[in-house]
Amino acid sequence: MPKRSYFDWNATAPLRPEAREALERALSLAGNPSSVHAEGRAARRLIENAREEVASLVGARPGDVFFTSSGTEANMLALTPAIETAAEKRARSRLLLSAIEHASVRAGGRFPREAIEEIPVGADGRIELSALTEAVAKSPRPLVSVMLANNETGVLQPVAEAAAIVHAAGGLLHVDAVQAVGRIACDIATLGADLLTLSGHKIGGPKGTGALVRRTDDIHLADPLIRGGGQERGLRAGTENVAGIAAFGAAAVLARYDRDTEASHMRSLRNLLETGLRAISPGAVIFGADVDRLPNTTLFAVEGMTAETAVIALDLEGVAVSSGAACSSGRVQPSHVLAAMGVSPVLTRGAVRLSLGSTTTEADVEMFLNAWRKLITALSREQRGIAA
Ligand code: PLP
Repeated sequence: MPKRSYFDWNATAPLRPEAREALERALSLAGNPSSVHAEGRAARRLIENAREEVASLVGARPGDVFFTSSGTEANMLALTPAIETAAEKRARSRLLLSAIEHASVRAGGRFPREAIEEIPVGADGRIELSALTEAVAKSPRPLVSVMLANNETGVLQPVAEAAAIVHAAGGLLHVDAVQAVGRIACDIATLGADLLTLSGHKIGGPKGTGALVRRTDDIHLADPLIRGGGQERGLRAGTENVAGIAAFGAAAVLARYDRDTEASHMRSLRNLLETGLRAISPGAVIFGADVDRLPNTTLFAVEGMTAETAVIALDLEGVAVSSGAACSSGRVQPSHVLAAMGVSPVLTRGAVRLSLGSTTTEADVEMFLNAWRKLITALSREQRGIAA
C-alpha cells in the first residue's frame, strides 16, 4: 500500500500498541466478570484495573467511573432530568447547552425538546458567559452541558468559569471532554465539572468504549439507560465489554503519562503545518486561531474551494482529512459550529479539518503541504481559465 498520511485523529485515533496487547490478552480470558470463580474474578480484575486508570486520567475516584459503549452513550446517560444530589432529590426541568456541542449532546439526552436552550458562542468559538449567566438566572437549578474542547475547531471553552456560574445558580455542570482528554489537563475537580464524558477511541483505545465520570458519589443518576443486571452499579446493565475496557484502561495510562510530550510534539508539527498552509494560500482563514485551542487541531477554509473537493483530492494524494464534523461525515452538512460563530455559509462550505496525533511526523506534514500546493495551483489555474 502506498504511503498515506492520516490527519483525522479527532474522528478516531489509531489503536495504541499497548491497548492492542491489552485487548488481545483480555480476549483470551473465559470468565464473566460477574461470576465468583477464578475465571470470573480475573475478568473483574481487568475491569477494575482499567477503572483505576481511567479515574486517574481525570483525577476522579475509581468508584465514580461508569463504563459505557461510547462517548455518545455517556452523554446520553448524563443528560437526564433525573439527576439527583445528596441534598436535592427533585428532577431538573431545564437543560442548557452551548451552541457548539457534539450531536450526541445537542440531541438533549432524555430532556424534551422544549426544555432545552442553546447558549450562543462568540465569533472566536467560545461560549458567551454573559448569556450563560442570563440563562441560568431564568432557569432555576438547570443541568448545563459545556464541552471542554470543540471537535471541529479545537477551541477550548472556559469551563471553570462556566462551572462557577452554574453552581451559583444551584445547577449542575456536565462536560464533554472527549476531544480534550489526553491532549490538555483535564482534572474533574479543577474544571468544576459534576459529570465528565470520555471516549476510549479518541485516546488510542478501541472504538465502542466510553465512560461517564462523576465528581463525587453525592451525584446520583436515577435513570439508567439500560436496565437489567446490576452491572456498573446498576447504571448500565449488560455483561461488560471486558476486552474493550481493559484496552481503554491501557490507553488511559499512556494518555496520562505521555500527555505533555505528545502535546508539544503535536503543537510544533501543527505550527509547521499552519505556517506552510498560510505560505501556500495566504487567504486561508484558520478558525479559532486567536484563542486557546487543542494542540492538534486546525480547521481552515479558503474561499473558492469546497471541502468536498479538497477532501476527495487530498485523499487521492494519500492524505486523510475531514470536512467539518467527522462524526457526521459521509453526509455533507453545514457545520453548526461555524454557523454559531457567525461564519458565512460560503466559507463554511470550504471548511477542512486537519487533526494530528502522537505518531504524526514531519514527513506527514510535508505530504499534506505538497498535496495542498497542487490543489491550490489547480484551483488558481481553473479560476484564471474562467476569468480569461
Ligand atoms: N463528543 C465529542 C466532542 C466528540 O467529538 C465525539 C466523537 O467524535 C463524541 C462525543 C462521541 O464519542 P463516540 O464516538 O465515542 O460516541
